Amino acid sequence: GIDGSGKSTQINLLKEMFEKHGWEVLLESEPTNNPVGKMIQEVMTGKITLANESLAALFLANRLEHISNPINGLNQKLKNGYNIISSRYYFSSYAFQSDAVPLKWLEESGELCKSILKADLTFYLNIDPELSYERIIKRGKQVELFENKEKLVKTHNQYLNAFELYGRDENIFIINAEKSIQEIHSEIWSIVESKLGNA
Ligand code: ADP
Repeated sequence: GIDGSGKSTQINLLKEMFEKHGWEVLLESEPTNNPVGKMIQEVMTGKITLANESLAALFLANRLEHISNPINGLNQKLKNGYNIISSRYYFSSYAFQSDAVPLKWLEESGELCKSILKADLTFYLNIDPELSYERIIKRGKQVELFENKEKLVKTHNQYLNAFELYGRDENIFIINAEKSIQEIHSEIWSIVESKLGNA
């Protein structure tokens, strides 16, 4: 979901629930902590300037590294028996970058990521961008460059558009996230149980 939609709140609850059921779970997010990820953070927080199309390429490099690094990449962690909950995966490229680079390029890079590692389930926390913006401001942490109202509206629309265009062979669940934290959690967990089984 867009920022302020409740991702980290829900991810933490989901992790607790998995652990209660005996699953080993790792939380991941993008961009990562590797050198490319650090550079992305510097662009996002305005420390360095980079054209948007170059940022898209950096995101792809970062994601491929994140998936396939032979020591601590996601695929290796899965092989080691962990389950992974990632805040954002390749659909976020369509959402954040489809106004900067050609959709065809995003489609091809999304296919590449998917061919290396496809998510079992994708949840989108659907929330009015106005409400998420209020939360971001209230939260009072550092507001990053992409966290302005106009960008949130655009990103939200582009997520929904990408699910329409490229989500056909994915398990995508668009969750109404304008409910209580517990209600959203229960809804997500019941989908997880029905799709992945109860360990
Ligand atoms: P994200 O990780 O998507 O940026 P957070 O989980 O950090 O979102 O939530 C943003 C803010 O909104 C936090 O202050 C959080 O406590 C609050 N919040 C999250 N989910 C809900 C909800 N369902 N109802 C009300 N407030 C929420």
